[in-house]
This record gives sequence, structure tokens and C-alpha cells, in this order.
Amino acid sequence: MNTYTAEVSCIQDLTHDVRAIELRLLDPPTIAFQAGQFISFEVPKEGQSRPVTRPYSIASPPERREHILLVLNLVQGGPGSSYLFRLREGERTSFKGPAGAFYLRDDGTKDLLFVATGTGIAPIRSMILAQLQRAPDRPVTLFWGLRSQRDLYWQDELGALAAAHPRFTVVTTLSRPEPGWQGASGRVTALVEERITSVSNLAAYLCGGSGMIKDVMATLRAKGLCPIYREKYYDE
Ligand SMILES: Cc1cc2nc3c(=O)[nH]c(=O)nc-3n(C[C@H](O)[C@H](O)[C@H](O)COP(=O)(O)OP(=O)(O)OC[C@H]3O[C@@H](n4cnc5c(N)ncnc54)[C@H](O)[C@@H]3O)c2cc1C
Repeated sequence: MNTYTAEVSCIQDLTHDVRAIELRLLDPPTIAFQAGQFISFEVPKEGQSRPVTRPYSIASPPERREHILLVLNLVQGGPGSSYLFRLREGERTSFKGPAGAFYLRDDGTKDLLFVATGTGIAPIRSMILAQLQRAPDRPVTLFWGLRSQRDLYWQDELGALAAAHPRFTVVTTLSRPEPGWQGASGRVTALVEERITSVSNLAAYLCGGSGMIKDVMATLRAKGLCPIYREKYYDE
């Protein structure tokens, strides 16, 4: 793993508690990684003399080697997210990486299923952008679970990608929609149960909390055997 110095080049608030942070690499000036991998920050923790390490997935595609995009939740009082939310445009930071075994496999024959909850979309965005460029004619499905309308982001971007790639299907489902929601509601597990009819030519990539990963794995396993790759962000 290398150590990188970077400058915060752009900050965008995506919702009331989700922020996208773009970092421009300074030293070294580029980064090579596989779609799906993460980087790690060492951050101070109150009441502790040693810093703690927090990993964050890269949400941008690997061909963008001079900038990386992160997307993260504010976890109240959490050292990692508080540190990143305190960063301002133009400020410098450093991180280690890239790392992780959750990356897009180079298997051109499988249909791909991506399932994310919350900011688990980060590595999956990188993978989908890489996959649509690498093999635009392979079927790709994304099921993304969020809580309610105020938690939605990247809907226009995903809609535009689906319009440009007829074999890319995206469904965002809200577990607690407010009245007026026209889209899917309920958990991503229910979408997997109802809409994935065969796993015989499927590879699945899951990212989010432990509960979703456990449930979706069980649902897929009940349908048959297929490769399932996963990244657990936290225990539920
Ligand atoms: C490989 C990997 C990649 C990750 N990539 C991302 C990423 O791209 N974006 C991101 O937002 N987080 C990501 N996480 C989670 C991240 O590393 C931290 O755990 C998170 O930012 C909370 O850290 P903290 O120090 O602020 O709070 P802590 O005090 O360490 O966490 C407090 C609690 O917050 C909850 N929590 C942790 N992560 C989340 C989350 N994302 N959403 C809601 N609740 C959460 C958990 O219950 C956790 O126990 C990733 C985790 C792993 C293991």
C-alpha cells in the first residue's frame, strides 16, 4: 500500500447527511486501483492517543487516475466521518491505499447484479461505470436501498446511464417512503427475491450493512450457486 497526499478539490452535499468529496492527487499525482477498492485514513479519536484507521471506498472509476471521489455518511460523533466532514476545499489530506478484495472481476460472460444500501453505492458506482465501459452489452442490474425521499441522490445520473445502456437496469427502493413516492418500496432483499429469476449465469456484488448482506446472500443461495462478492461496511 502506498501513502498519498491529496487536495480536496470539490465538496458536494448530496443529502442532509451524505457528502461527496473529490480529492485531487498531489503526491504521487496519480493512483492505480481496481473498481471497488478502498483507501484508508488515519484520524484522531477523542480520548485516545493513537489515531484510528477508517476505510472509504472509491466511488469514481479507475480510468480517472488524477482524482478520486468519496461518498460518505455523517455518523454523529464518529471520528472517521467527522474528520472527513471537517475537510474544506483546498485543504490537504493523506491516505493509504488502494486495498481490498471487493473489486470487479474481469469475467465477460456473467450477468452482473449489484446490491447496495446507503453509501454502499460507493464502490458499486465505480464498478458499474467501469463495467459499462468495458462491456456495454452485458446485462447489469442495480438494486439500491435507501430510507426515504430525502435520502435520494444520483438518481439523474443513474437514469441517464440506464437510458444510454439498454441492458442496464436500476431500481432504487425506499424502505420508509413518504406519501407520493411512485417508485419501488421495501427492502432490496425483496427485489432480489422477486426479480432475480435465475442465478445460473450471475455474479453478485453486495455492499452495505451486515443485515442486508446476510439476507441477500441467503436469498441468492436459495436460488442456486453463483459467485457472491461482498463488502461489509458495519455490523447491524
Ligand atoms: C471497506 C470499507 C469501506 C467503506 N467505505 C465507506 C464509504 O465509502 N462511505 C461511507 O460512508 N462509509 C464507508 N465505510 C464505513 C466507514 O469506514 C466508517 O465505519 C464510517 O464512516 C463510520 O466511522 P466513524 O469513525 O465516523 O464512526 P464510528 O464511531 O466508527 O462508527 C459508528 C457506527 O456507525 C455505523 N456506521 C458505519 N458506517 C456507516 C455508514 N456508511 N452508514 C451508516 N452508519 C454507519 C456503524 O453502526 C458504526 O458502528 C466503509 C467501511 C469499510 C469496512
